[in-house]
Amino acid sequence: MRHVIVTGGSRGLGLGLVEGLLAEGYWVSTCSRRPSDELQHLHGPRLFWQAADMTDGDSVIRFVEAAATWGVEGGATLWGLVNNAGIAREGILATFPDAETAAVIQTNLVGAIQTARTVLRHLLRQGGAGRIVNISSIIGLRGYTGLAAYSASKAGLDGLTRALAREVGRRGITVNSVAPGYLDTEMSGTLSAEQRRQIVRRTPLGRLGTAADVEPVVRFLLSDAAAFITGQTLVVDGGITG
Ligand code: NDP
Repeated sequence: MRHVIVTGGSRGLGLGLVEGLLAEGYWVSTCSRRPSDELQHLHGPRLFWQAADMTDGDSVIRFVEAAATWGVEGGATLWGLVNNAGIAREGILATFPDAETAAVIQTNLVGAIQTARTVLRHLLRQGGAGRIVNISSIIGLRGYTGLAAYSASKAGLDGLTRALAREVGRRGITVNSVAPGYLDTEMSGTLSAEQRRQIVRRTPLGRLGTAADVEPVVRFLLSDAAAFITGQTLVVDGGITG
């Protein structure tokens, strides 16, 4: 029985990941600042949720420790982490408030690093072997007007992926990124109708992505089949960056 921790599982892609992993038989722990009805509906013996805020290092540690204890008590081995929690804040950089920059970098990058560090301590103590998947974004690879801080945070995550893959590879732990294109979730709700039309027009597969497009790719990277893949960023974007 394998236990995977997914941050930000209350809605959007994170919720899709939690559902997919539960369906595959994993034990799943997740966190968010607030609970959600959708997550409460999934309630069951293989699902653990605790409130945590990625901008508060202590609450991240409390969440991972509680999740690890819950897994051990249930007889499941901690196997992986999906760093999914994230926020996007839009605005041109020249007038972008420092507080917004801090929130984006703290949530998307520093929070992910702290979560990875805490999970890694458990994986290493167990003797190694495991998976870390960071959810970055094509915005981190290509950029997008009005999303400079977000883009920097996601490029940072890809850097974390490459460096950590080298650091822990010998211990049987793989570290990869999945970089989705534009997904139809609450986060993309701020896109204007014209921006959405433009994205669809530029996407060879002719639509925005969904959690269901990304979830199987993450599940693959968590699986034994992906044992020899590490330090990579897999783009799942309907071809828009192709
Ligand atoms: P949503 O806004 O739909 O969901 C974000 C999730 O993260 C929620 O569960 C939210 O819960 C949680 N979260 C946000 N901030 C924090 C925090 N400070 N502490 C703990 N949890 C937090 O986003 P998506 O599902 O669209 O995005 C998921 C990931 O995919 C993100 O990393 C995003 O950058 C990435 N991505 C999204 C794309 C898109 O087009 N939507 C495209 C490419 C990548 P709560 O608010 O209760 O804390």
